Parts: sequence; C-alpha cells; structure tokens
Amino acid sequence: MTKNIAVLPGDGIGPEIIAEAIKVLNKVAEKFGHEFKFTYVDIGGCSIDKYGVPITEDGMEKCKNAHSVLLGAVGGPKWDGCDPSIRPEKALLKVRKELGLFANLRPTKLFPQLADASPLKESVMGEGIDLLIVRELTGGVYFGDRDTSEKNGELVATDIMSYSQHEIERIGRVAFETARKRGKKLASVDKANVLDTSRLWRKIMHELKEEYSDVEYSDILVDNTAMQLIKNPTQFDVLVTENMFGDILSDEASMLTGSIGMMPSASLSEGTLGMYEPIHGSAPDIAGQNIANSLGTILSAAMMLRYSFNMADEADAIEGAVNSVLDKGYRTADIMQDGCVRLGCKEMGDAVSDCI
Ligand code: NAD
Repeated sequence: MTKNIAVLPGDGIGPEIIAEAIKVLNKVAEKFGHEFKFTYVDIGGCSIDKYGVPITEDGMEKCKNAHSVLLGAVGGPKWDGCDPSIRPEKALLKVRKELGLFANLRPTKLFPQLADASPLKESVMGEGIDLLIVRELTGGVYFGDRDTSEKNGELVATDIMSYSQHEIERIGRVAFETARKRGKKLASVDKANVLDTSRLWRKIMHELKEEYSDVEYSDILVDNTAMQLIKNPTQFDVLVTENMFGDILSDEASMLTGSIGMMPSASLSEGTLGMYEPIHGSAPDIAGQNIANSLGTILSAAMMLRYSFNMADEADAIEGAVNSVLDKGYRTADIMQDGCVRLGCKEMGDAVSDCI
C-alpha cells in the first residue's frame, strides 16, 4: 500500500522526535511491504521566520492532499512576543479547523515497566492504567463568540458555549465505535445538572446507546470524573466529553503515567484523514541536545497506522517494539530508573526500529 504523509516537524524538539518516528515508519514499510511518501511542511515558529505566517496556504494544501498528517510540536520563547494573529499555535487551530478534525483521541497507558514514574500508589493502579479520552475538538466554548465590554461602569467578559445535535452525535459515534474496538465500556462526561449544552449532550448519547447495546454505557459528571481519575482510574475504558472538559481531563489523565514524553494523540475527521502528534510541546529547554523522549511521537505514528490506514498489525508491531525496548531496560532521561540503560532521542529510535 502507498500512503502520502504530510510531515510537520515544527519547533524545538519537534524535528528530533519526528526523525525517529520516520525511521520507525520506514522500518514498518520495509517489513510489511508498504511505501510511505513523506512531504515536509514548515509549521509554527520556523514558518513565521521564513514566511511571516505560522503555516502557508501551500503548506495547508499539502496537508489536505495527504492521507494523514504527522506533527512534532510548535512554539518557543523566541515567538512569545509575536502578534497574537500569527502566533505558532494559530497554525494548529487552522489545521484542525480546515481539516475538520473534530475528534481528539488521547490514550493514557501506564507501561508496567514505568510504574515507578506514576504519582499514584501501586494499590490504586491495580492491574495497570489503560484508558482513552475522546474529546470533541472543534465546538463548545473555545469556538463560541466572545466579548469583553463595559456594562454599568465595569468590564464584563462573555464566552458562549454552544453545541448542535450534529456535533454531539458525530463525536458520540466515534466514542461508541472506539469503545467497541477496546473494552466495550464508555463513560460520557458532562455537567448536566447545570448546563443546557450538557443536557443536550446527554440526550443524544442516550439515543446513541440504544444503537450500541453491546457497549456498557454510563453518565458521569465532570467534577466527579476529575476525582475518580485519581481515586480509581482503572474503572475507566473510554471516556467521551466536550472540548473544554476534555482539554482539562486529558492533561490530568496524562500525568497518571508519570511522563508526558510517552503520550501520543490522534485528531480525526469524518473521513480517514487524521493528524497525529505527541501531547507535549516543543520543550525548548532540551531542544538540540538529543535527550528528548521520542516514544510519544513513535506511538503517535502507530495510531496513524491504526486509525487512518487501517493497518492494525503494523500498529501492533510498533507498540510491541516500544514495549520490548522498555523490557530491555532502555530509557530516555525523563523516564530513567536505577539499573536501566540511558539512551538519547536518536538511539531510542534506533532501538525501537531494531525491535520491529
Ligand atoms: P512542553 O510540553 O514543551 O514541556 C514541559 C516539560 O516537559 C519541559 O520540562 C520539557 O523538557 C518536558 N518535555 C516535554 N516533552 C518532552 C519529551 N518528549 N521528552 C522529554 N521531556 C519532555 O510544555 P511547555 O514548556 O509549557 O511549552 C513549550 C512550548 O511548546 C511553548 O511555546 C508552548 O506554547 C508549546 N506547546 C506546543 C504544543 C503543540 O505543539 N501541540 C503543545 C503544548 C505546548
């Protein structure tokens, strides 16, 4: 199979971690008889420096014409003072919006070899944490109208949160389908005791659950979810929620595994086109030193094979290889433990590639 992949390394450690994911993808292509063609696109600060904008229209076209997009990270102190209209992060919102990436999938998996890195007690982690948050990505309060104006002699700020039936139904379907492919258990997170958007959310989810009777469904309030993720995270398989709740809960969940460098993510559209990236930023403090953890990006490439290309065996091969290198005691600096072998970003990519 031939697949065209738009590669957006970005800033800081972006180019270093992306190089390792490409190395692993090339190994998968060789082993499984595929051809992956990579088209590189500047994004973020490096694009601002070259073209004055965080992504060019030509770059956007390359993303739209690809079968999927692989992103490193954008931003850094050099561009913090940029005009807000051309800040590096603007490019991410533009790509999400123009590619229609409405579903964000963030797995939180604690590899047993890294249990010491989790802030939770062993008794709370049980058999291990393996959950997935499905976050709505293009609606809700982040995309609603906003205003700050003077009323009755003081400033009043307003952000509108709105959701349509269609927006809720399509993210609900992604969540139910994803739950079907995992542990067949879905919790829908809302604030239906207060918000109208949540009451509509719950109504639509209840209609959908009739179609997915093989999936065990429950409703849970967002404040309780925040608590349960710390108290008893192993009760969850798939969680689905709206944009802002998902933003906050997925960061909370990612910390259960102890290292941000291990965490992949996928942003999906209604078709097969998706964008895949590690959840961390450009880590300017460690850029250019060959010490970044490349595993989150390598696992993002595995998600791309699974969700955009329907290559489950190939995705399993990458995830299995990551498990093997951890078993062998190989660690990057951020997950280093006593008695383990410390590898650089590049050497970790080599180790994963060798295990495929
Ligand atoms: P960050 O995620 O870049 O870094 C936070 C901490 O985690 C740092 O100490 C960093 O060294 C460490 N870290 C992150 N990734 C790592 C990895 N792969 N291996 C080892 N250690 C890792 O967050 P930040 O410092 O708040 O942000 C830095 C820049 O990244 C900012 O400009 C921010 O706007 C941007 N950012 C971009 C994205 C994105 O591109 N999707 C996401 C978040 C932040």
